[in-house]
Amino acid sequence: MAADLETIVGDIVATIGSADDRGSVASYIPELAKVDPGQFGIAIATADGDMITGGGCAVGFSIQSISKVFALTLALGKVGDQLWERVGREPSGTAFNSIVQLEHEHGIPRNPFINAGAIVVTDINLGGHQPRVAIGEMLRFLRYLAGDDDIAINEAVAASETASGFRNMALANYMRAFDNVRHPVDLVLGAYFHQCAIEMSCRQLALAGRYLMLDGRHPDGGRVVSPRRARRINALMLTCGHYDASGDFAFRVGMPGKSGVGGGILAIVPGRASIAVWSPGLNASGNSHLGTLALEELARRAGWSIFSPA
Ligand code: GLU
Repeated sequence: MAADLETIVGDIVATIGSADDRGSVASYIPELAKVDPGQFGIAIATADGDMITGGGCAVGFSIQSISKVFALTLALGKVGDQLWERVGREPSGTAFNSIVQLEHEHGIPRNPFINAGAIVVTDINLGGHQPRVAIGEMLRFLRYLAGDDDIAINEAVAASETASGFRNMALANYMRAFDNVRHPVDLVLGAYFHQCAIEMSCRQLALAGRYLMLDGRHPDGGRVVSPRRARRINALMLTCGHYDASGDFAFRVGMPGKSGVGGGILAIVPGRASIAVWSPGLNASGNSHLGTLALEELARRAGWSIFSPA
């Protein structure tokens, strides 16, 4: 299989990776607007322990909302299913930064992968500590999952988002009014913006996602989460991982996946692969344009839709 995958990945890099129509780089975080849209990377960590890579697979990028998967994993470890009293589990059908549903739903965000939901998750992860404690914990967790101590925060991106994150401030303040954000808003957002500004390569991200392909196990034999929890996180990625385009991603690719406005996508094929793709240009829904096309092609050629018989 590994040899076939190398051919598929080589073809994807040569065709999709060099396409002319690349989407548009996110500009609402000024620092992200500086990223060269001509880049493309892919990495696949297989359940057999192989790593297949292509393009700029070692180039670091801003993981942005992909961090929400790891933040959710940490928060579930702290408070378990009580988390679901403060965050829903339904697709939102609205944009990543939408505020409209919060009024009707009394400050309870639809799911942990829209910004409002991720801000509540960050509030849980703060647990009475200063942001640097929560951020340190997140970095340690990612370094352990990926087996790589070089994973770090891009401080320029964190500062840029802190200076321009007015919508996230509105979301956090609004939920504080419902007592669903319980720490001071500036502390919660400090932790949230830094978590989004973590920089990882496709290779590091594919390695970090392995516990989700292995039913909650770290490849070193340790248990990261229970099988039930890993399956539930994958279910949320499938239904909510691409904002209001989650249905379209499931339709086209058929894998649990989480995108970020930095242009990365982490996709999981349970029992088979943890995949990271990156191309900074986004489609109209804010998801990586070429990254989505690459995963669509990979799913088709490797037979990796979760809806294909094993
Ligand atoms: N840090 C970004 C924000 O809160 C994350 C959004 C995303 O990646 O979709 O706006």
